[in-house]
Amino acid sequence: MTQYSFDTLTIHAGAAPDPATGARQIPIYQTTAYVFKDADHAARLFNLQEVGYIYSRLTNPTVQALAERVAALEGGAGAVCCSSGHAAQIMALFPLMGPGKNIIASTRLYGGTITQLGQSIKRFGWTTRFVDFDDLAALEAAVDDDTRAIFCESISNPGGYITDIPAVAKVADKVGLPLIVDNTLASPYLCRPIELGATLVVHSATKFLTGNGTVTGGVVVDSGKFDWSKSGKFPSLSEPEPAYHGLAFHPALGSMAFTFHSIAVGLRDLGMTMNPQGAHYTLMGIETLSLRMQRHVENTQKVAEWLEKDPRVTKVTYAGLKSSPWHGRMATVCPKGAGALFTFAVKGGYDACVKFVNNLKMFSHVANLGDTRSLVIHAASTTHRQLTEDQQIAAGASPEVVRLSIGIEDVADIIADLDQALAAATA
Ligand SMILES: *Cc1c(COP(=O)(O)O)cnc(C)c1O
Repeated sequence: MTQYSFDTLTIHAGAAPDPATGARQIPIYQTTAYVFKDADHAARLFNLQEVGYIYSRLTNPTVQALAERVAALEGGAGAVCCSSGHAAQIMALFPLMGPGKNIIASTRLYGGTITQLGQSIKRFGWTTRFVDFDDLAALEAAVDDDTRAIFCESISNPGGYITDIPAVAKVADKVGLPLIVDNTLASPYLCRPIELGATLVVHSATKFLTGNGTVTGGVVVDSGKFDWSKSGKFPSLSEPEPAYHGLAFHPALGSMAFTFHSIAVGLRDLGMTMNPQGAHYTLMGIETLSLRMQRHVENTQKVAEWLEKDPRVTKVTYAGLKSSPWHGRMATVCPKGAGALFTFAVKGGYDACVKFVNNLKMFSHVANLGDTRSLVIHAASTTHRQLTEDQQIAAGASPEVVRLSIGIEDVADIIADLDQALAAATA
């Protein structure tokens, strides 16, 4: 499929007419299990000597089509679909981590991720150190012998800040660790982290990939480029895996080691599986990813420029604006646009923010983003609520800002709604 361009891959990657019926669209294989040809076939499948379907907690043809499509769009060797974006993050870390091991993560992340990495994973004996990823020396200094991964978002939620992925990847390379990039806000249409040096890419398919607020899902894509055997730090991949009758995944499977481990051990034992119906909706969404993202960034650029000029607004964080300190990173990280998510501050502070949100008519006040329709939320009291105020400010979710996710409606209607709500909020 590599001969096709990105836009063509959004429609054709991972898809072929159904061999049994000729169905042109990918069927929803709503089945739990698959009949083995005979006992020998069953044994070969369980030994990973032959690739095929056993049980839908592990693999399912509809879900597999989605995995192949996202892997193609990200330029990865393989991918595994999961039940949510948060599941994808755990699945990405699972083969790398162990009790006592740590992750170095950016301070600018989705609030749920800061809580997952900062608090909940302690129960596994894993810890996270949060560092400002613009300070590359601090990033490198935070790494120790127990560090197993470096984690950031390409474009970060909620402020739309752009991470200098090539620079961070260089540090990861120097210290011999995998770089995991959450590419949810950019989607592979805007940013291709693997080309910029990332090892693994994670997605919340809930957002732009599906694109219309119908699915909760996630994907982990592996570049296939990391040498899991070199440092001895990743025994689940480089040594005989006791959880899979002693198979040494990296020596046996090379660039597909991470993907096969994620299915054969990760999905098997953690069970964070995507369902075939959800995969189907995401496949349908991806068919229009390029068209949607074009309109998302076009609209967002116009809305951000309009807001920036408005005297009722004190700050707009969109990296597509020339005034943004992150604008210069677009050329290398996301040349086609800075995404559809940003925050802005209404004159009058927190109280004006609340009035503004309450007066919007077309915008939906929801805890979601990356929908065809325009969405609004006050991040500090919702998506980033579990954080301390210092963490909120570091993440770009300070109490006086509102987060917008700009949809693909007519931009004149989007601006008109913002205009009347601003008038009500600042009257
Ligand atoms: C929403 C989101 C997640 C979590 O995804 P879920 O599908 O809600 O589990 C992770 N990262 C980012 C950047 C997100 O916006």
